[in-house]
Amino acid sequence: MQTLTERLTDLLEPSALFLGNDISDKYHADWSGASPCVPEALLKPKTTEQLSQIMALCYEYDQPVVVQGGLTGLAGGATPLSGEFAISLERMNGIEEIDATGMTATVLAGTPLQAVQEAADEQDLFMPLDLGARGSCNIGGNVATNAGGTEVIRYGMTRSLVLGLEVVLADGTVINALNKMVKNNSGYDLKHLFIGSEGTLGIVTRVVVQLQPKLLASHTALCALEDYESVIKLLAELKRSLGSGLTGFELMWDNYFNKVLEVEADLQNPFAEDHHFYLLVEYKDNETALGAERFEAALFGHLEAGLLTDAVVAQSHQDAEEFWRIRDGIGELFKVLGPVSNQDVSLPIRDIGIFATHLETRLKAKYLDIGVLLFGHIGDNNLHVCAYTGLEEDKLRINEDIMLMIGEYSGAITAEHGVGVLKRDFLDQSRTAEEIALMKTIKLAMDPKGILNPGRVI
Ligand SMILES: Cc1cc2nc3c(=O)[nH]c(=O)nc-3n(C[C@H](O)[C@H](O)[C@H](O)COP(=O)(O)OP(=O)(O)OC[C@H]3O[C@@H](n4cnc5c(N)ncnc54)[C@H](O)[C@@H]3O)c2cc1C
Repeated sequence: MQTLTERLTDLLEPSALFLGNDISDKYHADWSGASPCVPEALLKPKTTEQLSQIMALCYEYDQPVVVQGGLTGLAGGATPLSGEFAISLERMNGIEEIDATGMTATVLAGTPLQAVQEAADEQDLFMPLDLGARGSCNIGGNVATNAGGTEVIRYGMTRSLVLGLEVVLADGTVINALNKMVKNNSGYDLKHLFIGSEGTLGIVTRVVVQLQPKLLASHTALCALEDYESVIKLLAELKRSLGSGLTGFELMWDNYFNKVLEVEADLQNPFAEDHHFYLLVEYKDNETALGAERFEAALFGHLEAGLLTDAVVAQSHQDAEEFWRIRDGIGELFKVLGPVSNQDVSLPIRDIGIFATHLETRLKAKYLDIGVLLFGHIGDNNLHVCAYTGLEEDKLRINEDIMLMIGEYSGAITAEHGVGVLKRDFLDQSRTAEEIALMKTIKLAMDPKGILNPGRVI
C-alpha cells in the first residue's frame, strides 16, 4: 500500500509539497513563543480543489494537520505539534473582486490584510480591520481568530465584517457559503461556526468582506485623566457626542506610557506633568473643518468640566503618528523587556479599573521586582497586561495567576488573540462546563477523526 507522502507526491506539483530539510524554519512556529517544531511535511496548495484533495487524503490516513496563515498568531495555534503536517495558505493569495456597488471584497484566504486594505483604498473604499501585523497576517487567519485591532469600537471585530466564506472541511468537503448579502436568514448562518474557531472546524479558503466608504478626515488627541471613573464617563460622553465617528479610544496606564517614553527616547511627552491615565482618542468623518471643530469642542468641554486634566490635539499627521507610536510602543518594549507574560483579556468595562489595581497589587506581593504594564482598547472591554520579572521560569506562573484572576472577575481569558494551545487549559475560567461540552460535540461532528488543528482551543 502506498504511503500518504507517496500519494501526495503523485498528486501535487513540487512547489506544493516539502519534506525534511526542505521545510524552512519559517513554518516551525508562529509569533507566540510556543516551542518550535518541524512539521512532518509542508503542503502549500494553490487552489481550493487541491486543498480539498489533500484533506481527503489526510482524512483517509488519519493524518493530523496544522493550518498556517501569516503565522503572526499569539496563541500558538499555528505552531506545529509533533507528527503534524503543516498546511500553508500562502499560495492562495489574491483579490478576486472588489464590488464597488455592493462595497464587498472577495479575497483568497492567504492574502495579507494590508493587500486587502490597499485594494479597497484604490476603489475609494475602506477595509475596516487594522492591526499591527497587517503586512504579514492573512485574511484567512484574521477570520480564523476573529481578529480585533484598532477599529473595533466603530466597526466591530472580524465577525461583523464577514459576509461569506468558502471552507474546506476535515474530510475534504468544500462548503461554498460565499454570500454577498447583508440580509440572508436562509437557515443556519454557517460562517459563524468557522469565524473564531482557530482552524479547528474547517480551513477558510475564500472570504467575502463588507467594505465601508472611506472617511477622509481623521482627528487625533492625546488626553490625560486622573482616575478610571473619569475614563469610562468620558467614553460614554464621547459616544454620545461623536457618535459612530469615534474610531479610537485607547487607554494607557501611567506604567505603560512612561515605559514607552523611557525606551523610545526620540518620542516626546506632550504633557508637562505626570498623570495616572493617558488616552488616545480618534475621530473620523468626511467634513474636515467641521469635524475638527466638533472634535475639539467635545474634548475642551470635558476639559472645562474637569473630566479631563489635559488634552493635546494633533495638529498634523506627524503629531498623530507620534501619538500612535506611543500607543503602539509595545512592539519596541518586547525587544528589551526579556521574558514577558503578554495577556489580552476582556472584562466588563466598569470592572477593568479595579481589576487592574488588584492585579498589580497581587503580582507585586508575589514576585520580587515585577514590572506590570497596562493598556488596551477599553471601548471594546479589552485590556492588555504585560508582566515581567526578567526570569523565563516566572512567565508560566504569571500567566496562570492572570488567567485565574480573570475567572474570579468573570472575564474572558482572551479578547482577540484566541485560545490556541497556550490558553487551552484555562478555557474553563471563561466558559461553563456545558459550553465546553457543546464545543466538543460540534468539533466531533465536524471533524470526527480529530485531524484539524488537534489540541487547539478545546
Ligand atoms: C505585532 C502584532 C500585532 C497584533 N495585533 C493584533 C490586534 O490588534 N488584534 C488581534 O486580534 N490580533 C493581533 N495580533 C495577532 C495576530 O496578528 C492575529 O491573530 C491574526 O489574525 C493572525 O493571522 P495569521 O494569518 O497570522 O494567522 P496564523 O498565526 O497563521 O494562525 C492563527 C490561527 O488561525 C488558524 N488559521 C490561519 N489561517 C487559517 C485559515 N485560512 N483557515 C482556518 N484556520 C486558519 C491557525 O491554525 C491558527 O490557529 C497581532 C500580532 C502581532 C505579531
